[in-house]
Amino acid sequence: MFTIFDAEKLGVLWAFPKGKGKVNIGYAGEFKDAKKAFNELMQKYGFSGLKREKELGGVLPVSGPIKKAYADRVLVAGTAAGFIHAGVGEGNYLALKSGIIAGSIASKAISQNDFSISTLKEYETHWKNTFWKRVEAGVALYDIENFGVKFGITERIFDYPSDESIIRFLTRDVWGVARVLWKMIRLFRLNRVNR
Ligand SMILES: Cc1cc2nc3c(=O)[nH]c(=O)nc-3n(C[C@H](O)[C@H](O)[C@H](O)COP(=O)(O)OP(=O)(O)OC[C@H]3O[C@@H](n4cnc5c(N)ncnc54)[C@H](O)[C@@H]3O)c2cc1C
Repeated sequence: MFTIFDAEKLGVLWAFPKGKGKVNIGYAGEFKDAKKAFNELMQKYGFSGLKREKELGGVLPVSGPIKKAYADRVLVAGTAAGFIHAGVGEGNYLALKSGIIAGSIASKAISQNDFSISTLKEYETHWKNTFWKRVEAGVALYDIENFGVKFGITERIFDYPSDESIIRFLTRDVWGVARVLWKMIRLFRLNRVNR
């Protein structure tokens, strides 16, 4: 597999071989017209002559979880709740995990015949304890990645970090400096293309 970080489009184009002369080529980035951006990148990097067998795409939230994933008679799981590792676009694990947690809380609500917010809010404690740091690390990685690509300094600031090292970076080793840098990147939208 290989990847290209594109500063102009502020996204990443990837390609990995699938055997029998086929290749999966994808693009992830922030665009109003993603298909147009994808076609331009295919042209730019010399892939435009390839025959396309199948095309698919979708939208992923990259700003972190919604404020409250519960309400009276409601629990929100998966992508709808913003449970995505934004840095790598991974959501299957978090969708399954939050679904399991939501299921266990729902089962408790059924056995108590109480579907009010006071019973369902336990969901928040569970999902936060289970994967909140992973989601936050994903948002931080996404923002810092875009910042690096935009200013052409990805290789100077990154040696692709694991979630653990991002969490350590933000919480322990150089807590203050790292967190202030991340907040400034977000505040001044240094991780976004002006368009
Ligand atoms: C192009 C792309 C590539 C991805 N690659 C990966 C990957 O490699 N690894 C990974 O971990 N994650 C990946 N993801 C993310 C992953 O697909 C999602 O995080 C995951 O599918 C979320 O599961 P979900 O059940 O929360 O939501 P979804 O899979 O989106 O399921 C929601 C379902 O609800 C249905 N629905 C919506 N509205 C209604 C309605 N009103 N009534 C009834 N049904 C409705 C939809 O049709 C859909 O079937 C990728 C996403 C995209 C878009």
